[in-house]
Amino acid sequence: MKVTFSRYRLETQYFEILLNHHAREILCNHENNSTFKVNSFVLTPDHLSISYSKDVPEVQCKNTTGIDRNLRNVTVGDCNQVVQYDIAKAVRIAENTKSIVSSFKRNDHRIRKKLYSKYGTRRKNRVNQMLHKVSKDIVQHAVQRKHALVFEDIRYIRKMYQKGNWQGKKRRGTMNGWSFSEIKCQIEYKSRWSGIPIIQLSKSDTRGTSTLCPRCGKRLQDKGAWNDPIRKRELWCDTCQRWQDRDVIAVMNQSLRGLPRLGSSKGDAGEAMKWNVDNALPLILRVDASKLQSV
Ligand SMILES: [Zn+2]
Repeated sequence: MKVTFSRYRLETQYFEILLNHHAREILCNHENNSTFKVNSFVLTPDHLSISYSKDVPEVQCKNTTGIDRNLRNVTVGDCNQVVQYDIAKAVRIAENTKSIVSSFKRNDHRIRKKLYSKYGTRRKNRVNQMLHKVSKDIVQHAVQRKHALVFEDIRYIRKMYQKGNWQGKKRRGTMNGWSFSEIKCQIEYKSRWSGIPIIQLSKSDTRGTSTLCPRCGKRLQDKGAWNDPIRKRELWCDTCQRWQDRDVIAVMNQSLRGLPRLGSSKGDAGEAMKWNVDNALPLILRVDASKLQSV
């Protein structure tokens, strides 16, 4: 492949570039869509970026789905149905990469730099591929159920795991290695492409989402459950007299707090609504993210 430029005249040469499956699918699917436009493309020695756009009418949503991002799972749902995606594999991939990189002992910064970059990219690609499957599934469900997606504000999370806090070095490394913003970014652009509105809760709206009971609004208690392998991530409500999974109550609360904001993204989420279904716990589905259908 060679492109030559003469001094006064551009000699055009055509050459074929094989696009990946995703790009071909997008371009073919929108052939008849009048609002679909290819805006520009950029060609570099090893990349071709195509920028495209289309007009998407916003889906009229009547309900909301909360999204709770954790280290080993992403929990999504409302008071009727909750889906928990197991992403523990991402933690294992990160640990493997760390042990591979630390096993190289040669004291040569040029080689080390190359290795870090190679294994770092490999790790990022493997984790992102899994997150793509999860984000695609989340947005597809939101489209089917006509639900707006509600995000909590967890930008403070990095501050919780800084040096000098009570955690050990390993725990800090694990918590800071997980890209909380990557999955959010993926869900955001996929929702925009499908017309699903995104509701971003503020820091004060997020407060208490994982510690207050969505049904009675009382503070939940740990009751030593962290020590119990089965009830490890559960909390006890004294008023409702039952154990509830902390990730599940987080998405239920987020979904309820996002509801008043539906329709007007600047609405007040302060008037949190309460869950008024008698004693019915949401249906919880558990999905292994690494076994989801490929993107
Ligand atoms: Zn309660």
